[in-house]
Amino acid sequence: MNLSDIFASRIQGMKASEIRELLKLLDQPDIISFAGGIPDPALFPVQAFQDAMADALSNGNHAASLQYSTSEGYLPLREWIAGEMARLGVPCNAENILITSGSQQALDYLGKLFLSPGDTALVGWPTYLGALGAFNAYEPRFDRLQPGGNRSAQDYAQAAAPGRVKFAYLSVDFANPTGVTLTRPERENVLDMAAAMDCAVIEDAAYQSLRYDGAAIPPILALECARTGDINACRTIYCGSFSKTLSPGLRIGWVCAAKPVIDQLVLLKQAGDLHTPTLNQMAIAEVAMGDFEGHLERIRASYRARRDRMLAALEQHMPKGVEWTRPEGGMFVWLTLPKGMDGAKLLADALKSEKVAFVPGGAFFADGSGQNSLRLNFSSSSQQQIDVGIARLGRVLTGALRA
Ligand code: PMP
Repeated sequence: MNLSDIFASRIQGMKASEIRELLKLLDQPDIISFAGGIPDPALFPVQAFQDAMADALSNGNHAASLQYSTSEGYLPLREWIAGEMARLGVPCNAENILITSGSQQALDYLGKLFLSPGDTALVGWPTYLGALGAFNAYEPRFDRLQPGGNRSAQDYAQAAAPGRVKFAYLSVDFANPTGVTLTRPERENVLDMAAAMDCAVIEDAAYQSLRYDGAAIPPILALECARTGDINACRTIYCGSFSKTLSPGLRIGWVCAAKPVIDQLVLLKQAGDLHTPTLNQMAIAEVAMGDFEGHLERIRASYRARRDRMLAALEQHMPKGVEWTRPEGGMFVWLTLPKGMDGAKLLADALKSEKVAFVPGGAFFADGSGQNSLRLNFSSSSQQQIDVGIARLGRVLTGALRA
């Protein structure tokens, strides 16, 4: 028998990630790839992790680090994160923090927590592909969230019928894929709309610490805490991650939210994987409590220089009619091509004729639009590769525009 005939209906909405399929093509050494979204391994704090792992396994610490543990997560790490959240304007304590296996797991659990089949998730057009993948398993409808636009709460609610809007999901700082940061009025507007719709807000802050210039904007959760005076009365659920700052391989993220939400997520965590690996949590805690600020300064300086190089190279090599974002942080620049151009077709051509890779933008749109866009990553290429790669991309686009 063909077992796929009896897969659950939720599986039908799940497609293989185009990015993952694409990354398989990139093993050839002479390809310059702006397709990934990963940190530069040369910037991992290796020595600090060696020391922290050794500590977590010595002096009797092994009894905790190698043993089963609580689903909420390693308490010293939760306390440290609560302190960091307070610094960002979110007064809270450890009971408001759940450690997750990457923030990706938080997105999956939040989909599971809120979405019944046919409910609506409001997302950006485009939005983080991994969020679409996580939510898709719960058979939602997607509608386009326009934080600065003039669609009313009533309009969103009508479009969601007979289901209802359960949450608005946003990548707030230097978003994946656009690099764009939500302004403070847009954040306040999202809170107003969510209040009018009586839905949750999922604030994805994966890139929050990677700001290279401009003034920091308070998280949506901080703006809401200022309104309510109490995190336990807030509808915003903040998802943080150490993947972009310390190590994605250790899979440590967190949720900061009202206690009743955390309590429910703990039950999902118990059903999912019991807890995030304690050894990894202990190592992250020790490294974060060490010279985290110094480390952040170093990685920001390195990524800032690469971003500047990419923006300068785009200025030099892009043909007329191509537009791009100028991110204040993060890892991505987003290109919009003249209408009618197709990023996916261009990729095939770019790989073959110029050996340069990027992610076609269409993958990030829940409605399948956005063909005339593409995402470039600047964090995992050297400045020299950026110069050469953007010159190659310029040739591909100039050629396609002439054709
Ligand atoms: N959110 C966004 C916006 C991301 O770009 C990513 C990783 N690419 C994640 C969440 C998930 O990251 P992690 O699970 O490693 O914390």
